[in-house]
Formats: sequence, C-alpha cells, structure tokens
Amino acid sequence: MTSKLLWVCFILTTSTFSTSFSLQPDQPKVLLVAFDGFRWDYLYKVPTPHFHYVMKYGVHVKQVTNIFITKTYPNFYTMVTGLFAESHGIVSNDMFDPILNKSFSLDHMDIYDSEFWEAATPVWITNQRAGHSSGAAMWPGTDVNIHESLPTHYMPYNESVSFEDRVAKIIEWFTAKEPINLGLLYWEDPDDMGHHLGPDSPLMGPVISDIDNKLGYLIKMLKRAKLWSTLNLIITSDHGMTQCSEERIIELDQYLNKDDYMLIDQSPVAAILPKEGKFDEIYEALVHAHPNLTVFKKEEIPERWHYRYNNRIQPIIAVADEGWYIFQNKSDNFLLGNHGYDNALPEMHPIFLARGPAFRRNFTKDSMNSTDLYSLLCHLLNITAMPHNGSFQNVQDLLNAATPYVKSTTLLHCNNKQKEYKRENSYDYFIGVSLGSIIVIVFFVIFFKHLIRSQIPDLRDMQAEIVQPLLHA
Ligand SMILES: [Zn+2]
Repeated sequence: MTSKLLWVCFILTTSTFSTSFSLQPDQPKVLLVAFDGFRWDYLYKVPTPHFHYVMKYGVHVKQVTNIFITKTYPNFYTMVTGLFAESHGIVSNDMFDPILNKSFSLDHMDIYDSEFWEAATPVWITNQRAGHSSGAAMWPGTDVNIHESLPTHYMPYNESVSFEDRVAKIIEWFTAKEPINLGLLYWEDPDDMGHHLGPDSPLMGPVISDIDNKLGYLIKMLKRAKLWSTLNLIITSDHGMTQCSEERIIELDQYLNKDDYMLIDQSPVAAILPKEGKFDEIYEALVHAHPNLTVFKKEEIPERWHYRYNNRIQPIIAVADEGWYIFQNKSDNFLLGNHGYDNALPEMHPIFLARGPAFRRNFTKDSMNSTDLYSLLCHLLNITAMPHNGSFQNVQDLLNAATPYVKSTTLLHCNNKQKEYKRENSYDYFIGVSLGSIIVIVFFVIFFKHLIRSQIPDLRDMQAEIVQPLLHA
C-alpha cells in the first residue's frame, strides 16, 4: 500500500517537474488584430492610452508601407500571404477575370468564389497543415473555402456581430481543450466612419477613442483568460485614409463614351477594360484629360507598385492624385474619405504594434513593409513559410533575442533592453528548474528512506528483540 502511494507520488512529482520546465511557451500563440482603415497617425489624434500601453510594453513600427492598390481586400490578403497583389491575385475589391470570365465584388459581397483566392495559400491553412488549429473572427477571406480548406474555427462574415462577441469567440478558441495557436480578429472601424466623415473631421476623435476602448476591452479579456503573458498580440491595419472634396472630382463621362469600355473598378484607381478595337481611342482620350489623373497602359504601370503581371489587372488603369475622386458621372456615390491611392503616400499607411513574450519591450522601429508581416507570423508560429515577397530580416529586430522558439540561427542585434528581457526570461527559467529540482530531491529522500525501511529490519525492533530476553530474565 505504501509503495503504491510512493509510485503515485513519483508520477505526480515527475509531472510537476516537467510542468516546471514547460513554463517556457513551447506552443507559441499569435493573435493578429486589424482595425480597418486605422491610419498610422490616428494614434496621436486623440489620447489612445491602450494603444500606447501596447507600445510601451511592446514594439511599434512608425511607417508601414502597404501594397498598391491601398484597398482593403488586396492588403488583407497580403498580410496573410506576404505577396504583392499581382502575385496573390486579389488585385482590388472589385475585379474581373477575363480567363475565368467571372467578377468579384466586395460591395456586393460576391467574394466567395474560391478561384479568386487560390493563387496563394494564407497562413491559417499552412498553420493547419503543420498540425495546428486556427480561429478567425470575421477576418476577410477566412469564410472562403480556399484549397478546399477553411480555418479550424471561423465566423461567417456578418458586420452586425459586435466586437465583444468576436473577442469572446477568439478567447473561447484559445482556451479550448484543443486550443488554437493562431487567432485572427477583424473590426470594420475606423474605416466605415473615415469614409463617411473624412479623416480630417473633428468627429473622427470619438471614433478613434472608441477603437482605443475596444482595444482596452480586448486586453482586459485576454488578461482575465490568463492569455496575456503567453500570447503574442499584433495590432495592425490594411490602409490609411485621406480627405476628399466634391471640388476635386474627375468625371470620366466628360472624356469617354461609356459604351466603349467597362469600368471594373472606380476610385481612386479606375480599372478600364476597353471594348474590342477601342483601346487606342480610350487611352488617347484619357492620357492628357486631367492634370490630377495619371493614366497607364498595363505594361507601363510603375515597377515599384508590383501591379502588372495578373490577368485581373485591366489593360488601362487611371490613378487619381491624393484626395481626388474618380466618377463615371456625377450620380455616383461620393465619400468624404477614401483610400486606394499610391502606397508611397503617408496618408495611406496603417499602424503596426505588437506585444508578447516574443517581442522586445518599448522598442520603436522606423519602417517595414506589410509583405514582411507574413514571414514574422510564420516565424512566431514556428511553421515553414510559403514563397513570398517579404523579408524576415526586415522585421527580426522586433523580436526579443531570448525567445525560446526562435528558429533562425542568425544572431539578433542585442541592446540593453534585450539583455534586461533576457534576464527576466532567465529568471523564470531558474525558478522553474529550481522548484522542479527541489521536488525531485524531496521525492528521492522519501523514496530511499522508505526503501531502507522496507529492506533492512527495523533497528528498534531488533533492539527490542535483543533486550526482551533480558527483561524476561
Ligand atoms: Zn479597409
């Protein structure tokens, strides 16, 4: 009976010992959060204490160059594939593929045709192929069947689902019996209100404060679920926003006969598919039409935009200068804020913050490309990246050098803050190993004491046997 008890003690002790070692995060967790249309400088427009809390205890990149065109779907697919639009194939929110003879439209939520998405493999699929689980709360594209695969858990897109409900799902999946290691969380604002009000409107202040409160809610719930210390949280966006004006409008009907072409995408990048035999006529009519409109034949689109080699990029594109709006005619919808312009414009740039065990603390970096995020995600998840247009070297200085699951053998740049963080991690490790060792030593002392007792006759009994005759005598 006593020896059975000892074996139970031994099993408990060894499991405690292994647990003390597993204080190190052997299953890296990543939560990628995007607030649509959060321009980089909204952080300073009004007080944003929760964003600044993440920056203080994590990393912040001041300038993120996203991809052309600076629209929602192309940029969201870049974040999870590391590819430029011409490579991943989501070249705009509104597209026409002449080979497939099919259209794609975000405005009509006509986005579920797998064929539009399958030039690339998003990170949630690669993560699942590596044996892990992913969970997505409304992240664009995560409710589309891509390569016959969906995220392990996902929410079918429904903009009326509250932020709180999306957070609840993410937390449920991270804390399930078979937890996810990758979560993707999407929120529609400040994009919606940015379009409606224009980014220069003083009414944008309360909109940004509301987003900051939402981030505060997310942090509170992650702490409550005891995920805060083990989870790597990345907060980013797809693009910025610029102020438009009804005084800055380019009306295509003034220059072109609308029966001569199809307008696939409108503003600020007009994607024009001329009818047969009309290419030259349309190009000539448009190329010098307006001083704030730059017109390109597909093969002349600037190399730096990486926006040429795809069937869904139309034969002619006309790009408006910042703040200018392209209409087919004046009956079209006008918005006070818009994006989609040249990705070199600061107003088009999104935010990037991150915090967690893998990231350095209170570290600011000048710039990165949104194509680099994918390789960072793959590195954090410890999965092999698919071919992409980003660079892990561009972003590896965001990482804490002591991160235990850093796969790269390249030595990271080390400064005092890193050393400090290294020391903190070493301290946790020391405590874990020490506790485990003490428990094992205590076990062996008890075990050997029992062994000695059971194998060698008890001295007191022997003494009793020896002394008894004398007493009887
Ligand atoms: Zn967007």
